[in-house]
Amino acid sequence: MKRRTVLITGSSRGIGRACALAFSGAGYHVFINGRKSRDKLEKLAEEIRSSGGTCTVLPGDVSRPEDVRALFLKIEAETDGLDVLVNNAGIAWFGLLTDMTDEDWNTVISTNLSSAFYCCRAAIPYMVSRKSGRIINISSMWGTSGASCEAAYSASKAGLNGLTKALAKELAPSNIQVNAIACGVIDTDMNARLDAEERSALMEEVPAGRFASPEEAAKMVLMLAEAPEYLTGQIIGFDGGFI
Ligand code: NDP
Repeated sequence: MKRRTVLITGSSRGIGRACALAFSGAGYHVFINGRKSRDKLEKLAEEIRSSGGTCTVLPGDVSRPEDVRALFLKIEAETDGLDVLVNNAGIAWFGLLTDMTDEDWNTVISTNLSSAFYCCRAAIPYMVSRKSGRIINISSMWGTSGASCEAAYSASKAGLNGLTKALAKELAPSNIQVNAIACGVIDTDMNARLDAEERSALMEEVPAGRFASPEEAAKMVLMLAEAPEYLTGQIIGFDGGFI
């Protein structure tokens, strides 16, 4: 396979979907993934192919190490390794910490943080052997500042930031760059729980006065994938001036 390759976890909707289209437009072969929405993945694949791009649909739950292993076996069958890994899959959980069950906590941490560990562990050996690769973690401003009623989510994203910084040091000698984007409010299904009043109240808190589109976030991810190699270990704020 001659095209550069990228795996974008959680690309059936939202930021991941926009990333898949942006990377495809830039000439990458895109491995697209999602847990539940197989139909949405197939539609996205059609859209990519009809605009002259190439992709592989890889359904699977990236919070499960066995699913990630199976996913990478398929990637290895098609290519000699990824050029770019975008750890994007994530879920939110809103409510008081005291109302969280063990299962709720573990689901948030395994989906938002352990998934990145499983995918990095699988992708790194190939990147090391080629002495090149990019890992981009989709984090949140709440990982930096913390959000009330989103303790597990904030903890998972703070963990992702720590993973980013540590792994960047571990992999810099192998010329692999690891960075994260700390997103502010991006207009996706993740914020669909907000009613009109809550949306406008939150928007007022954003100095830019609006939410970002998933396409804008994707543009930022693609920019990071193409950035000079000296940029590594950074948590880049993308929040309209929120933090
Ligand atoms: P969406 O809810 O729109 O999309 C989430 C995507 O992740 C879906 O494609 C979903 O696929 C996938 N996904 C969820 N769990 C799993 C899993 N276990 N395995 C594989 N795929 C999974 O969210 P966003 O696009 O808004 O969020 C993307 C990332 O950006 C997340 O990490 C989120 O935390 C982060 N972020 C988002 C912000 C926002 O305001 N939207 C702000 C800050 C960060 P499926 O439906 O098939 O399960």
